[in-house]
Amino acid sequence: MNIFFTRISKLLFIFLLPAITCLPQQHANLKYELSMSANNILHVSLLYSPLEDDSTVFTYGEPRFGGQNDIQAGLSNLNISFPGIIKADSTKRIFTMSYPKRQPVFIEYEITDTHENGTGLRGELFRPIFQNEYFYSHGVNLFLNPVFKKENIKASISVTWIKPPPFPLFYGFDPENKGQKTFYGKADDVMFSLITGAANQHVYKMTIDHSTGYVVLRETGSGPFNKNLAEDYFKKYFTGIRKFWNATDSNFFSLILHPLLKVNHNISGVAFSNGFIGKYKSDTVYNNAQLFTLSHEIGHHWLGHGLSMEIKNQWFDEGFNDYITFYNLAVTQLITTDKFQEEMNNVFRLHYSSAVKNTPNDSVFLNYWKMGDYNKLPYRRGSIFAFWLDQQIRKTSGNKKNIRSLLLALLQLRKKHQGDYVVTMDDFINTSSKFVQKELIKDAINKYIISGVPIQFTNDMLLPGFSITYKNEIPVLNMTAQKKYFFSLIN
Ligand SMILES: [Zn+2]
Repeated sequence: MNIFFTRISKLLFIFLLPAITCLPQQHANLKYELSMSANNILHVSLLYSPLEDDSTVFTYGEPRFGGQNDIQAGLSNLNISFPGIIKADSTKRIFTMSYPKRQPVFIEYEITDTHENGTGLRGELFRPIFQNEYFYSHGVNLFLNPVFKKENIKASISVTWIKPPPFPLFYGFDPENKGQKTFYGKADDVMFSLITGAANQHVYKMTIDHSTGYVVLRETGSGPFNKNLAEDYFKKYFTGIRKFWNATDSNFFSLILHPLLKVNHNISGVAFSNGFIGKYKSDTVYNNAQLFTLSHEIGHHWLGHGLSMEIKNQWFDEGFNDYITFYNLAVTQLITTDKFQEEMNNVFRLHYSSAVKNTPNDSVFLNYWKMGDYNKLPYRRGSIFAFWLDQQIRKTSGNKKNIRSLLLALLQLRKKHQGDYVVTMDDFINTSSKFVQKELIKDAINKYIISGVPIQFTNDMLLPGFSITYKNEIPVLNMTAQKKYFFSLIN
């Protein structure tokens, strides 16, 4: 234990000395140091300067990321220096650090790569991967994350590599860093982001609108092919979706695309605080399904993260996001207007032929993990409802407003609230009633969303130039005219 004391005082000396001479932002409550061993075990040390008296609870990993209930299996050799005491709960994912008088504590632990431990796609998507030529981990799977009793306490963090992997790294939270200098910032920004690197990883930087975009690829045999396609796609889509949301911020955004290692799956991915990581199979990242998935996921940066309804209303976060993804792909000319029609007809066919299409809204989430059609229900129901509502707003306003006007109004409303405010059903109805009659939207929500009755389309629900016919009780959309006008942005 004396050794620990010595270690603490040495560390304190090392860390406190620069604090006297350096800028104030270089103080950090969580000072992390990382070292990768030759056998790909990551050694992590943490000097924690407590922000609350007596004790702080830390979590490791995020079980809400699918398939991560045993994520702590990769964390081992956790030690805390005396006089700090550590208590792990039964899952060993939650740790309570106790200390006298806010005295700094020194903690060490190791993380090993457990992604091949029968974890399939979710393992490759979320779990740390430490290989000779590849490093990948989300912040919550690298760093112990403090959970404070008072919500308004925010920790600062520093991240320093003592022994980095032998290739440049990419920090989702600090794209220019490359892992070569100490990062100082907010702990939340790091926890909900990621660090990745590979011997064959390349970072392409571009200015998009007022924002900086980074496309991060692992070059395979078809590297330059992916580079041109991914850059072209990202520039067009990111510009388009920023316009859609009237985004004027200069925040950077990163699109990371890595080939899957062993999993046979078309594409999947997960958003992080300022970007999206997609993992795909095959040589090219660019086919129809991949294009749509990428765009849907980038869309969640605004609809799903920036603007969201609670989880039982996934018809909004997922379904509206699907609809405006089709729409924005057409506006940015990444798909043709005929393709938009084809995609909507695909949604109609899959929804109206589904055995679970009448499921009431309050049963959707309860059945969500039964997968299959239950899993797709909120996407399909929501995108069909979004199409219907878009038509009603356009008809009511004489084509001066559309679904974008409604979403921007909802975003304004959300911005008036602090913290993680989610839009309520009343908010949705009240805001929609600025664009269509209140009774119409109330009845429609009750019938088509709450009760889950599929919309029976008639042509008088639609703008001139749009028609829907029924074939075997499945709606078939035909956009005969005005396609060009439909796909221009309206405020
Ligand atoms: Zn989604």
